[in-house]
Amino acid sequence: MQKLLLATIFILIAGCTTTPSTKLNEVAPKSNNPKESEEIFNVKDYDELSLPAFSTKEFNGRDLKLGKVLERTNLYTRYYITYKSADLTISGIMNLPTGDGPFPVLVLNHGYIDPAIYTNGRGLKREQDYFAKEGYIVIHPDYRNHAESTKVEGYQQDLRLGYTEDVVSAVYAVRESNLEYFDKENIGMLGHSMGGGITQNILVTHPELIKAAVLYGPVSSDTRDNFDKWGRSNPDRGDIILQNHGDFDQAPEFWDNISPINFFDNIKVPVLIQQGTADESTPMKWADKTHRAMLEAGVDVIYNTYKGEPHEFIKMWPQFMSSNLEFFDKILKKQDTEIIEPVDEFRSRINLKEFGTYVTPDSSPVEPERFTGYHTGVDIEYTDVTQDTEVLAITKGKVLYGGRVNGYGGVIILEHELSGQTYSVLYGHLDPRSLTNNSTVEKGERLGVLGAGYTEETDNERKHLHFSIKPGTDTDLRGYVNTSSELKDWINPLELL
Ligand SMILES: [Zn+2]
Repeated sequence: MQKLLLATIFILIAGCTTTPSTKLNEVAPKSNNPKESEEIFNVKDYDELSLPAFSTKEFNGRDLKLGKVLERTNLYTRYYITYKSADLTISGIMNLPTGDGPFPVLVLNHGYIDPAIYTNGRGLKREQDYFAKEGYIVIHPDYRNHAESTKVEGYQQDLRLGYTEDVVSAVYAVRESNLEYFDKENIGMLGHSMGGGITQNILVTHPELIKAAVLYGPVSSDTRDNFDKWGRSNPDRGDIILQNHGDFDQAPEFWDNISPINFFDNIKVPVLIQQGTADESTPMKWADKTHRAMLEAGVDVIYNTYKGEPHEFIKMWPQFMSSNLEFFDKILKKQDTEIIEPVDEFRSRINLKEFGTYVTPDSSPVEPERFTGYHTGVDIEYTDVTQDTEVLAITKGKVLYGGRVNGYGGVIILEHELSGQTYSVLYGHLDPRSLTNNSTVEKGERLGVLGAGYTEETDNERKHLHFSIKPGTDTDLRGYVNTSSELKDWINPLELL
């Protein structure tokens, strides 16, 4: 406390000699949201270093400043930033999407990197860029003692509550900012490893600060696990923490009160846990435990595991990111990511040609057959249905192609965004006269009706829908390809529907 007071006085004096008005404002800022979450704990004599005490602390995150441009792409610009967390200056980066906004905001909390080697913006670079490309403002705080942030003594001994304060302050600094492109109502958070622990601290102490959280290979929600793995062996940290607070058996209450797992009842927003099964740094049993405890506490939690993935995902990183995006889009952009079936009884009526079925005129489930090759989609059969069969857009999309094509009769190809990926989706054998004239369609909008069997409406095919999904935006009309390697350019529609 004495140290803090001295620092304050020093700033005050320094401030008076330069620009008194602004500097004075900085030493006595108003609190962001005084005691917002006091109600959630029955605060009594908690140790100052405890989650209950942290929840009642006054924060004054403010003064978000954009510094130099670090990188400029077509889709976003990367800035060096600083903001204030109590009397500290915290550095970081911000990726700002191109356009007017407002854009929802994601705060990314990086994992442990030795502050001696850490540099500005390090830790989640791939994720920062990905989310910015997808229309999120990304704020990545460096934390105190990292990069250009203020250095504080004893920062290793606070069991990460100092870093947690810096992240809470980042959110308040966004809320206080006058920059108009922030969608301040929609702020989410992703934390990796130690950053996942910081995120858990925030979820239980400031339940309404953010709207959704991803825990990516998070440290344990029981701080004892983390201390056993990394704290105890580090004499600069472990010995001092044990001297100040006592070991697990001596001070069980202290360790309980610094562990988010004991306060999961407070969590009010959806949580997505993403865990690699081969993570040697933060083992899967920790995520298992966190997930179980969240379920017991009634948290709206999804738990995804990724087979064979280590602490930082490699092979399944694209799937990991599209599931993060789907999760955040649903909550922060209120995007409807569910897709519907293009025709009734979609699955049960796929009974002749599946995805990848190989046909020739001599061997085919249908007679007569005029094609040869691997089937690029699925056929949904309606020979037995005489009334009109409507074909609907599976989600909103853009019309890439619509018209009559040999082998199909009427065809419409739509561009759809599914889980953050772009696909060209072909709906074939429609009555050409029924095709929509719109250039964009909403989910469930009628594209047309199936052509009548063995007429020019279907180019003399059965009454059925040929339905295929190809990543990208090609208007590729092929219903069959010659080799199995060409077939890899399409995906099995049943994987998405
Ligand atoms: Zn087909």
